[in-house]
Amino acid sequence: MVMTRKLKYDDPRLRMGGVDIALSGEIKLLGLIIDQKLTFNAHVASVCKRAVAFYHQLARAAKVSWGLHPEVVRIIYIAVVEPVVLYAASVWAPAVDKIGIRKQLNVVQRGFAQKLCRAYRTVSLNSALLLAGILPLNLRVREAATLYEARKGVPQREIGDREVERMSSAFCSPHPAGHIDLEFKCLMNQEQLVANNDHDFNIYTDGSKIEGKVGAALSIWSGAVETKTLKLALPAYCTVYQAELLAICRAARMAAINLAGSVGIYSDSLSALQTLQNPKALHPLAVEARGFLRDALIQNKRISLFWIKAHAGLEGNERADHLAKEAALKSKRKFDYDGCPVSFVKRSIRKRSLEEWNGRYRAGETAGVTRIFFPDAVVAYRIIGKMDVDRIITQVLTGHGGFSEYLHRFELKESPGCVCDETVDESILHLLIDCPQHSRIREDLLQQIQMELCRGSIPAILGNTKSRQIFLSFCSRVVRIVNERNRAK
Ligand SMILES: [Zn+2]
Repeated sequence: MVMTRKLKYDDPRLRMGGVDIALSGEIKLLGLIIDQKLTFNAHVASVCKRAVAFYHQLARAAKVSWGLHPEVVRIIYIAVVEPVVLYAASVWAPAVDKIGIRKQLNVVQRGFAQKLCRAYRTVSLNSALLLAGILPLNLRVREAATLYEARKGVPQREIGDREVERMSSAFCSPHPAGHIDLEFKCLMNQEQLVANNDHDFNIYTDGSKIEGKVGAALSIWSGAVETKTLKLALPAYCTVYQAELLAICRAARMAAINLAGSVGIYSDSLSALQTLQNPKALHPLAVEARGFLRDALIQNKRISLFWIKAHAGLEGNERADHLAKEAALKSKRKFDYDGCPVSFVKRSIRKRSLEEWNGRYRAGETAGVTRIFFPDAVVAYRIIGKMDVDRIITQVLTGHGGFSEYLHRFELKESPGCVCDETVDESILHLLIDCPQHSRIREDLLQQIQMELCRGSIPAILGNTKSRQIFLSFCSRVVRIVNERNRAK
């Protein structure tokens, strides 16, 4: 294969052992098809072909009114289809904004999105994506690529100048023969604490996130007296888990270097202790803490680790908890640790994707009916996750269902008119808001939700958890009645 920017060039002639070696237009390397001009069209086409094959298998087993449960389809989509498409996304992500490639991805995704929300096949991509609660594939490709680069330390717009926390290299860990066995005991109450307390020093550690601020603290005791405290500050984007680990790490350092005698280290975070215990966990703070504990062991110091139940009235733990909250709220010191957790990076990337998706959804020519119910895709993304979107609700939210106006549009019914008035189209909005056929159950609805029902008020009704449930069951009833009526004709 020849890769060059030149427009005019001569193909090189290669001979080996008297045999001409032919040039090829593309090569497949580790499952990625690389073409001469780096367009990645061939790769996307092959990936889409595989995804479509999955779709055909699914289509046999997942129909609108019978077959695989949408939740099963969702699992298949998230666990199989997306990873197949996103494979090596960081390589070909720059190609994803080309119209041709976007079209290919859209075709693949539309089918799955329709299956996920059990929509009619005429439903547009924008509607189906919104109701299925999934993001457009091209945005997902970019998300995957951005996350990969952020993890590799390439600066990203989403996270500004923060440095992503990187796991320590396995090469920096000690040889498996040099691993130390770390055990921790679980203490549930004061009696167990007293029974296990035979150390010269006890260090209670805790991390805290309060009002969006993060802090950690150590409280060092000798016998029944607190001899020293240490407050640690972390930036707001850090997690409690990081704060807990940082506190344990500092306690380990203190035990290994500053304190002479046996030390007990107490934490109420099981996950932090488990990370510390597991030699394969490469969190930088855990690796550092293990290093201190190993040093202490070499010096023949006795250091024991304990998990203690939080909020069980244990004095040292309550004190550390109080100090950690103070550290979070009041501390003005320089941050003791500022590794940006991957969860924060993921959230920031998702936020940007949602904004872009929202812009596309709002400006789109399709999904007109869906936009009446959900004018904003970001809000919808949050609400849809809490809703049970079945095929009837999908008919309501898309306007594609057994309504005369829709049936007429696709030449399945002669007249688009409603039974109440032939001159009025039987659309979903007419049925929900105006049609006198359903005035009785509509009265009941209005009684219950105490809100006005008109085109403009629907998003507000859906935004409220209580009125949403009542409104959706009203919609279901209306649609079932109308479906029944239109089927009978
Ligand atoms: Zn009517």
